[in-house]
Amino acid sequence: MKILKYFDISWFSSVDGPGTRVVLYLLGCNLRCPWCHSPHSWESSSPLLYFESRCTKCGECVDICPNGVHEVSNGVHLVNHSQCNHCGACIEICPSSDINKWNTSALGFAGKDIEVSELYQLLKPQLDLLKHIGGLTVSGGDPLVQSKALAELLKICTADGIHTTVETSATLNKKHIEELLPYVNHWLIGLRPSRTDKVEDWKQLLSNIQLLAAHNPNQITIRTPIIPGYTDTQIGYDMIIEVMRANGIKSIEILPYNPYSENYYKAMGLKYPLEGIQLPSNEELIGIKGVFTSAGINAKIIA
Ligand code: SF4
Ligand code: SF4
Repeated sequence: MKILKYFDISWFSSVDGPGTRVVLYLLGCNLRCPWCHSPHSWESSSPLLYFESRCTKCGECVDICPNGVHEVSNGVHLVNHSQCNHCGACIEICPSSDINKWNTSALGFAGKDIEVSELYQLLKPQLDLLKHIGGLTVSGGDPLVQSKALAELLKICTADGIHTTVETSATLNKKHIEELLPYVNHWLIGLRPSRTDKVEDWKQLLSNIQLLAAHNPNQITIRTPIIPGYTDTQIGYDMIIEVMRANGIKSIEILPYNPYSENYYKAMGLKYPLEGIQLPSNEELIGIKGVFTSAGINAKIIA
C-alpha cells in the first residue's frame, strides 16, 4: 500500500467542487506562485512552523534544540529556520504545542505520512455522510505531485461510489493526469495567466487541458484567483476565454485573493511577497464576472 503526505483536512466545504465536500490537502507543489496561500505545502515534508501568537516565550525550546535555532530574550523569540534539521525536539517540549495539532500549536510540522488504506478509513465516516450530496476533493500543494499514491486512494473512493474532484494547476507532465483520469469525476483547473508564468508551464497546462477536455469538457471547472498586479488583466481574461472556448469548457470560478496567508509566510520565516496588496473590491469582482458571462461562460464568484 502506498503512502500519501498530507497537511490538512477540511471536513465540510461547500466551495471546493460540486455539492458539499471533504477536502484533503496534499503536500508538494512544482510551482511557487507569489500569491500562494499555503507556502507550507510546497515541499514534500513541512518546514518548522512558528506561530508567535501562540508562544508564551517560556524559552523551553531554546536549550533543547541541538542547532541553536531558537533564541528568546526580552520577550522576543527569534527562529533561525535555516538551521533546523527537523528533529522535532522543540515541538515535543513546548507547552504550547501538540505534535499532532500543528494548526493550534506554537511550533509544528504541517505534514503527516499515512498509508492510503488508513487515510481512507479516516475519511470514510464523513464521506459516507456526504455521499449523496458531494464527495471528496483533493487539493494541495498540487495533487499531481503524488499522483501514483493518490490514484490508489481515488480508486477506492470510486469503487465505493464516492464522487471525486481534483484541484490542480495542471503544469506537470501528462502522465500524472493519465494516472488519475480513470478515478476523477471532476477537475478544478487553475488557469490564471500572469506575468510571472514560465512558458514551459503554460504550454504544459494547455496541453493537459486539451487532454482532459478530449475526455469530457463538462467535467472541468476553471478556477482563476484575482491577484491585483498579477492576474487581473483584460489580456489574461481574454486568454482564459479563448482556452475555454477552444476546449468546450463552460464554467469558471473567480476567487478573490485570500489575505490570511500572510500568517504562514511569517510562520516559515519568509518575507510575504504581496505586502500591502489592495484586495479587489466587490464591484471589481462583479465586473470581472461580467467579462466572462458576456462571453457566454457560466461564471461564479467564490467568496
Ligand atoms: S517552548 Fe513553545 S511557548 Fe515556549 S518559547 Fe518555545 S515556542 Fe514559545
Ligand atoms: S525541530 Fe529540532 S532542529 Fe528544528 S528547531 Fe526544533 S529542536 Fe531545533
